Amino acid sequence: MKPLLSRGRRWGLLALALGLVGASLAFNLAREHEQTAAAELERLTTQSKVIEDNLTRQLTAINLSLESLRVELPGWRDGPDGPVAGVQHMKSLEAAMPSVRTFMAIDVNGVVTLSNREALIGLNASQRDYFQAPLQSLNPNILFVSPPFKTVLNKYVINLSRVVLDRQGQFAGVVSAAVDPVDIQTLLNSVRYADDMRSMLVHGDGTVFISQPTLVDVIGKNISVPGSFFRQHLESKRPVSHFEGISPATGDKRLPVLRTVQPAELAMDKPLVVSLSRDPDAVFAHWQRDVRNQSVAYLLLVLLSALGLIIYQRWQVRQGRFEERLRLATQASGVGIWEYDLASKRYDWDAAMFELFGLNPEKANALNNDWLQTLLPGEAQRMKDATRATIKQGQVFDMTFQIRRADGQLRFMRNRAALHCDQQGAPCRLVGATEDVTERKQREADLRIAAAAFDCQESIVVTDPDKVILRVNRAFSGLFGYTAEEALGQTPRLFKSGRHEQSFYAAMWECIKRDGAWQGEVWNRKKSGEIFPDLLSITAVHNDQQEVTHYVGTHVDLTERKAAQAAIEKLAFYDALTGLPNRRLLDDRLHQALSNARRNKTHLALLFIDLDKFKPVNDDFGHAVGDELLLAVAQRLQTCVRESDAVARVGGDEFVVLLSAIEAAPDASAVARKIHDALIAPFVLSQGQSVTISSSTGIAIYPEHGSNDAELTQHADAAMYQAKAAGRDRFEVYTPAADSASSQPRAEGGGADSPIENP
Ligand code: GH3
Ligand code: MG
Repeated sequence: MKPLLSRGRRWGLLALALGLVGASLAFNLAREHEQTAAAELERLTTQSKVIEDNLTRQLTAINLSLESLRVELPGWRDGPDGPVAGVQHMKSLEAAMPSVRTFMAIDVNGVVTLSNREALIGLNASQRDYFQAPLQSLNPNILFVSPPFKTVLNKYVINLSRVVLDRQGQFAGVVSAAVDPVDIQTLLNSVRYADDMRSMLVHGDGTVFISQPTLVDVIGKNISVPGSFFRQHLESKRPVSHFEGISPATGDKRLPVLRTVQPAELAMDKPLVVSLSRDPDAVFAHWQRDVRNQSVAYLLLVLLSALGLIIYQRWQVRQGRFEERLRLATQASGVGIWEYDLASKRYDWDAAMFELFGLNPEKANALNNDWLQTLLPGEAQRMKDATRATIKQGQVFDMTFQIRRADGQLRFMRNRAALHCDQQGAPCRLVGATEDVTERKQREADLRIAAAAFDCQESIVVTDPDKVILRVNRAFSGLFGYTAEEALGQTPRLFKSGRHEQSFYAAMWECIKRDGAWQGEVWNRKKSGEIFPDLLSITAVHNDQQEVTHYVGTHVDLTERKAAQAAIEKLAFYDALTGLPNRRLLDDRLHQALSNARRNKTHLALLFIDLDKFKPVNDDFGHAVGDELLLAVAQRLQTCVRESDAVARVGGDEFVVLLSAIEAAPDASAVARKIHDALIAPFVLSQGQSVTISSSTGIAIYPEHGSNDAELTQHADAAMYQAKAAGRDRFEVYTPAADSASSQPRAEGGGADSPIENP
């Protein structure tokens, strides 16, 4: 199976997904940061408003008291107990207004004329800001706010002052109130809701008046440096500003809200600025923890998903390798894999399946069930039954069936399948494998045939390449007499008869080595010691590498066959009644004897003997007696000749004697006489009958009477006829005159008493 995405794409997708998650986290964190900042600034703004309201009230009150002082001042200057009354009035005012520590009236020269603090009266304040500023302005409507300055008591105060005019409207000095920081410190402290929160009150020119918590370095310092929050705020002319970052004034990170306090009705020459700020680290501590936690979580997500992808890819590579291996294995094994969906009745096949069934995957129908057409009749029903049994009983599906492929081939297929059930346990599909078992079936059949053939009538011996006997069949034990146990482990030398030279066996094995087989007759020995003619066939069995793995020897006992052969031969060459050679064998012998005689330049004689008047014997005594007489004649004839001579029966009562080596014609006549005499003696037959019979013999001699077998035969026959013609009971040596006699009909008559003619 090809992976859906390439490695690079997968990494790209993962990076994209992680990027999106990261971006959304960052976006959320940024929003959270913004919301946190906004909420904080909102709170700071609210608190600053509280301070503004409070300060406005106090400034208004101070302003009112300064106005009242300004009104009272001419009375105290001109009245009898004026100064004392003025001091007294200021003292009561100071007591009533906790935010003012000192009230002063300063004359046109800058000398303090009245004060609730009597020690100050006579003090020259002409150089003080709170005197100089009104002097410069001379505007009686303005409330002058001095920058903070250090008092003799080492405390920072702010003086609020107003211009005093005389009746002519000329500058007559100022009235002034020094604001006590303690009360405002309390106010500024009261709005602090966190330890890191800083509250400051700054004069419009940038000098820090009060700081809560008290920062010694900061109080009295001018923070109106270029780029400072303070400068930015004032320049923006907004009533409220907020910032975030390093404070140029204090050098630390702050989140400040700055609010200008300058109520219009007071006509202050300089505003006061309230600065409430928080340490962003504290404000955003929660957010930062979130950032940390989410970053760690995100990092973990990145690591885990990368690790997951690496593991997945490795798994996929392994899976791919496994699938490839499975594919190659199934391809090599020729096994097809299939799936059958029980609900849709659709078959899902791999490529091997189409190949096995000889079907084209491109032409498959929607259910891919064309293959059912290839099943031989009856197979579809068997298949259905087996499938049903598998579904009902959950058995493993295993059946072998036959198909006829489109190319006409008849094939055996084996289907094995297992049932798969869904999560509710209901059968949903069959998953199986199919293989072509045609060859296996063929081999099995071959094996059965071989097994049957092995148990045939012929004796079979199987040996290993070293000729050690591995197996024998039943016929072997029947033939040789050895049981299988006795034969196994032996070699065929066990059967040696000793009748063959070592060279015979060497030639035999040489032939087997060359041709792979040998057949021939061998004399072998049975367990009983009996030696018999064995028609032995040896075949070498080779493996794929052409190495001999076995030799198979079959043994056929030829004893009976040879006997039968001999019997047949006898029938062909011997006379059945007398057992004498027949004419065919005689011809052979004559031929043989003639060539010997020619080679050795010797003589031979052919005697044709016919019994006289034999027919009447048959007639008188019956055919059986005739036969008995013929047999007795044959025996007597054999006693008359030498071993090297031959006696044959060539017709009813006709015999031939071949004398293969004679010196001369008289030798033949001597034998003829001997025969005649032997036959003339009466025969006493089995039933007690006594029969006497004479014979007529014709003699032809080689080379005198013929140079070949035909001439000799013809001439001996002619001489025999001559003897008959001459009255029977005699023998005649061939003379050319005999030829004419033999052509005449045989003379009747003659008998045992006929005179024997001496040649
Ligand atoms: P001839 O003196 O002229 O030889 O007269 P023959 O009676 O011997 O007659 P011939 O030689 O012409 O015939 C031989 C007879 O022998 C003919 C037949 O009846 C008889 N014969 C032939 N073969 C057999 C045989 O196998 N058994 C018996 N019993 N008789 C045979
Ligand atoms: Mg005869």
